Amino acid sequence: MDNIKENMDEEKRMKDSFSKIQTEKAYYLGEYKERVLGALTKNQLLDGDIYPEIIDLMGRKEAYLLKITREVPLKNLKQYINHAEKIDLKYQLVDGISYYGEIGLVVVSKDALENQSENLVIRDINQDFIDAGLDKSYGKSRGQEICSKHYNKIKSILPSYINEYKKIGILGKIIGTKCPICKADKENNRRK
Ligand SMILES: [Zn+2]
Repeated sequence: MDNIKENMDEEKRMKDSFSKIQTEKAYYLGEYKERVLGALTKNQLLDGDIYPEIIDLMGRKEAYLLKITREVPLKNLKQYINHAEKIDLKYQLVDGISYYGEIGLVVVSKDALENQSENLVIRDINQDFIDAGLDKSYGKSRGQEICSKHYNKIKSILPSYINEYKKIGILGKIIGTKCPICKADKENNRRK
């Protein structure tokens, strides 16, 4: 009796582990999780920032293939594809329908990785802003001129980033420079 139960348990364990692996594979664009060097979500690709972490991973000796979903417009993928061509890394565009979840890009190795990073999805470039409860337009406006209201807000909430912004000066006011965060604010309100 116990033996039968054990066998059934074993079978269930195998089935569970098989379906877990299939689910993981569907999540990582058809790749085994243990071969994934790093990944980006579709949203990260749509935001259009280039992640230097991915460029680094693509150059690692274990890197074998760059796989990207076709669900994201080609213009957002171009820099990664160009880099793959430059360094002679194989790349493949895959249809999104066969996969589920948020992953849009993976860099994979041929074999299971020994010291795999715990967080396969690269930390979002705007994560500090997201964590601080700020709209992503704050993060995306880095390097730009913004109004003094938003300048002061960043200075008080995320002071370590303040050097990446400039206040719209007198000239900016004369030529009508618009604050990109105010602009996003208006658009967000219109959508509500
Ligand atoms: Zn503003």
